[in-house]
Amino acid sequence: MVERLSTLFELQLIDNHLDELEELRGDLPAAVNELKYQIKSLEQQVEAKEEEKNNSLEKRKQNDEDVERLSNNLKRFKAQLYQVRNNKEYDALTKEIDHAEEQIGKFEAETKALEELSQKLKIEIKDVEPQLEKFNEELKEKEAELKQIIKANEREEARLKDKREKVASKVKKPDYNTYMRIRKALGGKAVAFISRAACSGCHNVVPPQRQIEIKSNKRIFSCESCGRILIGQEVAEEVETKAQL
Ligand SMILES: [Zn+2]
Repeated sequence: MVERLSTLFELQLIDNHLDELEELRGDLPAAVNELKYQIKSLEQQVEAKEEEKNNSLEKRKQNDEDVERLSNNLKRFKAQLYQVRNNKEYDALTKEIDHAEEQIGKFEAETKALEELSQKLKIEIKDVEPQLEKFNEELKEKEAELKQIIKANEREEARLKDKREKVASKVKKPDYNTYMRIRKALGGKAVAFISRAACSGCHNVVPPQRQIEIKSNKRIFSCESCGRILIGQEVAEEVETKAQL
């Protein structure tokens, strides 16, 4: 049983060191993620606007072709006006002319609106550029900073992770799950020891009878106040000396 407790505490000591390395990174990882997210969303905005601009250009081309076709028709209809033989033909032709003129007017108005839209989109795209540039610059700086910190502790981290893997493999699955659950809930510290008659995790006094029981290392006890796995001071000191972290 003492082995089981020692292993859990050794795991805790390794995790403490790994957590310290993690803390050195500060809010850099979060800042990098946030910047990446902002850049992506700006790029998507620009992309959507570019697409709208292209669609507008396509539609304008189509309109120009339609206007040209209708203008040719119009010319033909107007020429035919001189050759009409009766009122019925005349009415039919003027109807065609009115219709063509109306269609041309509609296409031209739409083209004008599309040109304005394109101008607006162009300005909007240009407005995003400085912001995007600023974000990219910031990202580059923060990534470089983070990389430097990671690099400085790379070997230490690899060594600790290697050790952690070995120690973790010695921990029984239910113990490991309990350990991880408490660790997650209580700021990384899942195993505490008795120090000056109190729990080292929450500093609440451990009743004398419970202290004796814990000291006997016969089973796993939890702190009645914080819920951490509680071990005796002797075991903690022994592990700390032997672990050589
Ligand atoms: Zn406690």
